[in-house]
Amino acid sequence: MAFDYDLFVIGAGSGGVRASRTAGSFGAKVAICEELYMGGTCVNVGCVPKKLYVYASEYASHFEDAKGFGWQTPPVAFDWATLRDNKQAEISRLNGIYDVLLDNANVDIIRGHGRLVDAQTVEVNGQQYSAKRILLAVGGWPFIPEFKGSEYAISSNEIFDLTEFPKRLAVVGGGYIAVEFAGVFNGLGADVTQLYRGELFLRGFDHDVRNMAAAEITKKGVDLQFNTEVTSIEKMPDGALKVYLSTGQTLIVDAVLYATGRKAKLTDLGLENVNVTVSEQGYIEVNKQYQTNEPSIYALGDATAGMALTPVAIEEGMALARHLYNDEPCQLNYNNIATTVFSQPNIGTIGMTEAQARERYPKLVKYRSNYRAMKHNLGGSPERSMMKLLVDGDSDRVVGLHMVGADAGEILQGFAVAMRMGATKADFDATVGIHPTAAEEFVTMRDPVID
Ligand code: NDP
Repeated sequence: MAFDYDLFVIGAGSGGVRASRTAGSFGAKVAICEELYMGGTCVNVGCVPKKLYVYASEYASHFEDAKGFGWQTPPVAFDWATLRDNKQAEISRLNGIYDVLLDNANVDIIRGHGRLVDAQTVEVNGQQYSAKRILLAVGGWPFIPEFKGSEYAISSNEIFDLTEFPKRLAVVGGGYIAVEFAGVFNGLGADVTQLYRGELFLRGFDHDVRNMAAAEITKKGVDLQFNTEVTSIEKMPDGALKVYLSTGQTLIVDAVLYATGRKAKLTDLGLENVNVTVSEQGYIEVNKQYQTNEPSIYALGDATAGMALTPVAIEEGMALARHLYNDEPCQLNYNNIATTVFSQPNIGTIGMTEAQARERYPKLVKYRSNYRAMKHNLGGSPERSMMKLLVDGDSDRVVGLHMVGADAGEILQGFAVAMRMGATKADFDATVGIHPTAAEEFVTMRDPVID
């Protein structure tokens, strides 16, 4: 049977675009459909605009520190509309680049919502397309629990483009998005209260990292309230929001950001027409080759379980296309994937937390350094940094590497390469540091610590 396409991709986010381009470059006839924006969450309402806003917010501390270095800074003021509109212009530019990249790879772009009709047919805007294979790269969508007044809460999809800057902001959640946005709006000058339901935020990260991040973020001015849940939100006559808390207290704010996780975006995808299994957690189930129960249908990225990270989706997209159209094995190694929370200061992590490493390695050796970066001695900031290495005493391999401190996102990438290659503590020790930097601390820790 002749198909319209070799591969039909639903969703032009990080994973879908990369899979399409790679498949196209191997000569496959590919179409991609997208109902919202080219580049998906990362480009439009995720990594890219978030990082631009992080840069914007960091100027606050740069202005502050500048005085100690002799700069007489004039009074500074922040203009939200300028940041928001410049961000939008940049994103429109990137959207255009995505169109060109797909075009260059001979991928047909179809605008509209894709819906599965059967295992080899997708319908978009009433038109049906047949395909030998279909890839579901539909990504995720913010989840806001339902409660009295939850309609007043906004998600990370809306926060970037608010008409008015929220001078008072409540952020609910204790994961990546909550921590990053609390830092961004705090830096931009808002009064930020972050509310987390548990004992300590950033569940899943190393305990020293979580404690250090809590201390540093508090110093920056975010009001962190743990063991606190929102019971309801009420709109006041002046438009402000009154947030009722489980502690009995209330907050008056201009906006409430819910960053309480994301779910796979499977609404109206036509899954009832095919034999694709969705897990209890709501993710599409796939095997190691990203194939669903339905042999002609594949899925990857945030629509499947696993690390919801752009570079992971990109690698998966590439691996799948190479496997299907260039006969390569499809085996991604998910170990030691470095990740950064772009909080202020950054949190960077590779490999195991101390708790995980202690379970796995009976002779775990721990190194930790807690210091005030040289820059702050003149700048005056009380910010401290922390670095931590976890070493398997038997093999001497570094099995966990963590940092809370400026530029952790930049510093850790190279260490991720080393850890992937199986670097030992002896390798770290034999590496001459770059002086004076913060990063050199990772190769100069000599004395193990015992807590
Ligand atoms: P996370 O899963 O990281 O965090 C969700 C947070 O919300 C947790 O603290 C969770 O608490 C809390 N929560 C969940 N449900 C409720 C509820 N009903 N009421 C109150 N609190 C609740 O999700 P995010 O939305 O922050 O981010 C989604 C994913 O996107 C991340 O996991 C990450 O993979 C990716 N991401 C990556 C970034 C990066 O690489 N820098 C940046 C942003 C996102 P608890 O811990 O108690 O479950």
